[in-house]
Amino acid sequence: MSKQAQIKAVRGMNDILPSQSSLWLEVERVCANVFSRNGYQQIRTPIIESTHLFARSIGSDTDIVSKEMYTFDDRNGDSLTLRPEGTACVVRAGIENGLFYNQQQRLWYTGPMFRHERPQKGRYRQFHQVGVECYGWTTPDIEAEVLSMVSQVFKALGLTRTELQINSLGDADTRERYRAALVEYLSGYKDKLDEDSQRRLSTNPLRILDSKNQDVQALLEEAPSILDFLSERSVESFSRLQRYLQALDIAFTVNPRLVRGLDYYNDTVFEFINAEFGAQSTVCGGGRYDRMVEQLGGKPTPGFGFGMGLERLIQILQEQDAPISRQTSAPDVYLVSVGDLAREQALQLQVALVQAGHSVQCFMGDGSMKNQFKRADKSAAALALIVGEQEAEAQTVSIKPLRRTKTPLEQQTVAQKDVANIVTNLLESL
Ligand code: ATP
Ligand code: MG
Repeated sequence: MSKQAQIKAVRGMNDILPSQSSLWLEVERVCANVFSRNGYQQIRTPIIESTHLFARSIGSDTDIVSKEMYTFDDRNGDSLTLRPEGTACVVRAGIENGLFYNQQQRLWYTGPMFRHERPQKGRYRQFHQVGVECYGWTTPDIEAEVLSMVSQVFKALGLTRTELQINSLGDADTRERYRAALVEYLSGYKDKLDEDSQRRLSTNPLRILDSKNQDVQALLEEAPSILDFLSERSVESFSRLQRYLQALDIAFTVNPRLVRGLDYYNDTVFEFINAEFGAQSTVCGGGRYDRMVEQLGGKPTPGFGFGMGLERLIQILQEQDAPISRQTSAPDVYLVSVGDLAREQALQLQVALVQAGHSVQCFMGDGSMKNQFKRADKSAAALALIVGEQEAEAQTVSIKPLRRTKTPLEQQTVAQKDVANIVTNLLESL
């Protein structure tokens, strides 16, 4: 028989292994808590959407739509796409389910996204985002609320050294006038632009500001600033946002070259950047998109939101050695049991302890007392609970501290029916 070739995961798509998943769960829990306490409700949309949705919302000259989407025909010949981002999906769901009719919405989502990019540190083909979207407000107070939530999440996670950059892209008129000025400036340096930027000079010049090419970035130093083209209303709104951020004690810098990689934004855009993380330094990005709902067939509804990359967030937490990244999966209690009656009781004790809110690992299979204690030590549990043959007969359990404790704990034997309460008290006193 020939040896079968080993099947590997698809390039750029990662398994999240048990050693990592407790940190993932913790990060997701922190996000869910912060969002729900601020009055946001979760929305869950399918991972696959009709291809038109992204072509119509993200913009056909963006990297995502022009070269990164996982698009395929299903068995009916319909063109479908694995979602590359969440906003268009939420807008589609909102329109379809009437969420925008005379209502304001504060929503959040989480899940995998798919982009056919070159895999490297912080950049994968399947990656995960949590995101927030708000509908029905044109004022910058909602923007401050959303930015404040990101900052609350970072604080709760212990993430430091993350810089907030903000910019305003103004309205359609601003961008039209700015586009002309930028094209005029860059046309003088056409031969210094890379191929992508040369092409964009005629298709979508603002996207040149988003170029990752160092030479192009150097040219842009002297380029006109979009902030000089804003309407009075945009200026007012942008400065109100800045006042709110100051009141919230959220540090920020204004970066007039920040445009973001998607075409749908207007007025406020922002990114949270962790410079130490190298080229893939943006952890979270978003902005205002007041035209998208209408563009996708809904009645005009302003929107504001962000997407946050969980792989990047988690890698940064680990690189910064944030306490949360040292999550252990050590149980509170390890249950040792010898003999069949003891095992039966151990299974019952496990239920009682879990119901009392403790985490428990129960030895399974055949093993001597010595063997089981080795496992108990290895588990790093705080307490071992022992049901030997004698304890099983007497319906008792011996409790043995495994870790050195502030006040030394003696081994004690207690009735099985009392063990959950006693363990609760012991763990509190450790
Ligand atoms: P970048 O400029 O780094 O390509 P982007 O502008 O394409 O980011 P968005 O579409 O705004 O990013 O997505 C929001 C966040 O999702 C990013 O800030 C990043 O943290 C994360 N993200 C985007 N693409 C990837 C990817 N391919 N792999 C991992 N995370 C990603
Ligand atoms: Mg990108």
